[in-house]
This record gives sequence, structure tokens and C-alpha cells, in this order.
Amino acid sequence: MLTDTLPPIDEATALAAFEARDKAMDGRFVIAVRTTGIYCKPSCPARRPRRENFHILASGAEARALGYRACMRCKPDDVGRDKEAIARAVALIETSEAMPTLDRLADAVGYTPHHFQRLFTRAVGVSPAAYARALRAGRLEEALDQEGRITDAIYDAGYEAPSRAYADAAGRLGMSPSAWRKGGAGKTIRYAVVDSSLGSLLVAATDKGLCRISFDEDEADLRVRFPQARIVEGDAGFAALVSEVVALVDDPSRAADLPVDVAGTAFQQAVWAALRAIPAGETRTYSQVAAAVGRPAAVRAAGTACGDNSLAILIPCHRVLRTDGSLGGYAYGLERKERLLEKEGVAGRRAHHGERGRRAG
Ligand SMILES: [Zn+2]
Repeated sequence: MLTDTLPPIDEATALAAFEARDKAMDGRFVIAVRTTGIYCKPSCPARRPRRENFHILASGAEARALGYRACMRCKPDDVGRDKEAIARAVALIETSEAMPTLDRLADAVGYTPHHFQRLFTRAVGVSPAAYARALRAGRLEEALDQEGRITDAIYDAGYEAPSRAYADAAGRLGMSPSAWRKGGAGKTIRYAVVDSSLGSLLVAATDKGLCRISFDEDEADLRVRFPQARIVEGDAGFAALVSEVVALVDDPSRAADLPVDVAGTAFQQAVWAALRAIPAGETRTYSQVAAAVGRPAAVRAAGTACGDNSLAILIPCHRVLRTDGSLGGYAYGLERKERLLEKEGVAGRRAHHGERGRRAG
């Protein structure tokens, strides 16, 4: 059982969890009530007995060995069963070639589909179908990073037909899988290099949206980044988009609802979305960004994903600082990062110690 691998709970933690009816602690211990002879999970809705009338025990098995019966109201023994059912369903999804239906998953673990859907969603955070889709899309990204045919990658990732992969990818990646892997093959990228208040600015876009905003770069940098794309200078029609971006450099607090077309892994996309959610004039730490995407331990990876951002200012990686308040890094130089923050009204009182990286931030 999953709970066997978790460390034991100390009494103070257990009492606090029982008092707070903390669902997250269900399965970690049970409360055995002397006066009634029953045992409960921490979140049981029943009234709390007096402290001298209950024991804290490690498991239902231990309580039963002492002659207690399971509470009919909170069903403490179902907690372990629920966790096992979810673990088995996750394993089934991960090992299945095609995506298992909800009916099949529920049947395999012995629950009704409706109940299982709710249970799974509450524990995992997304429905079984969404979990399977995310897993499949993640596998496709991995496969695309390796050599081989695109269609092989699509089938290897568990898609039944390329059309589904393209539908998933369009929502997540901007570019289609093949265009992404082939360095922009089949894409036309328009660009302009213009002066801005922070220096020379490259603005580039496909017909779907902006694919590069950067400082001190030119057409040659675009060709390295998108070797297969047709790269052309922007015409008069493109100038309108460019002036929106230049205005954004002058005033990064402008609400910018500009179309984007950038490729990234699921993790990078999540980090970039988290960056776009930081309001102008506010900053976050790399740790906070990692936590915002549900990966609190991945602070370094979050920093790298900030640095891999293709759309300077529009995806405001300049709003991320180190935990100690220092600037961290910035792909286009710390002076630009500081000036961007000043334009947004963030006071320039951060220490510069220990900064060398061009990548992060
Ligand atoms: Zn109970």
C-alpha cells in the first residue's frame, strides 16, 4: 500500500490534522475512539471526542487488531483502497498503447465510472482523460526530439492518427510538430529590426503570431533559430505589429494581447504562462514561478525555462528575481532588466551580487 512508504506522523501533527479535518492526511493515521469502539480517518466529519478518549494509531489494521470497528460514516479503510485504485489507474494509462476509456479504467479498479472520475480528479488534479492526453503529448515531444520520422513519433506516443496529434499540438505548441522539429519548415517568418528605447530590437512573426522578440539580434540569428523557414523582411502591413511591440518596450505595463506562435515543452509552456500572469510592477522569485507551475522543487529548471523565453518583454521574464532580491540573470543584459523594472515602477534597489549568467531570467 502507498501509505506504507510514508514516514510516521508525530502526535502534534496528527492532532492538528484531526482538528482541521485535513483530507490530505487521510490514510496516514486513524483515530480510535475508546468510548464508541470505532476508528475514523482524520477528515471524519463527526464531532471530535475529548483527547483522553481516543488513541492515534498508524492504520486501520492496527485498530482492528485492538478490537475497533471502522466508522460507517467516514469509511477509513476506503482511503487506502482509493489510493491503490488511483495508482493502478495511472499505471494502466501509462502502460496502455491506446488511451483507456473511463469505463474501462473504472471497471479495472472496481468503481463506478462517475465515482472514479471524481476520485481521480480530486487526487490527481485533472480528469483521467486529461491526464492521458498530457502524457501522450509529453511523449510526442520526447519522440520529436529524437531522430526518426514524424509519423513514427506520433504513433509511438500513443496517438491513433496523426490528425489527433496535430490537434493537440496546435493548442500547445503553436507550430505543428513537423514545423517545430524541422526548424520552421513550411513557415514564412516576417521580421524587422528597429530602434527602441532599450536598443536594437528584432521582431519576428509567422502568420499565426510572434515567434521572436529579442535585443541585438538580426536576420542571421533568425536563420540559426529557424533554419528551414522562409525568412522575409516585413512589409508595410507588418509595421503595425512591430510598432505595438516597440510601444511595449517603452511601456512594459501596457496590456499586450498580441498573438504568439512559440514552441516549447509542456514545462516551458507552463512557465511562460506563469510569467505572463505576473502583473506589471510586480516581481516573483524563481521559486515562486516553480511553485506556480506545480513543480516547487524545479527551481533551476524554471530559471532555465525563463531564459529560453523567445518573446522578450511580452513574456515578462524580467519580472523574475532571485529569492534574495537580486536581479538574477537576463538574456539581454542586467542593465536592460533593471531599466525594464524601473519603467514598471519597481524600485532599483536590488543588489547585483553574484551575477554572471546570460541565460537565466
Ligand atoms: Zn468516522
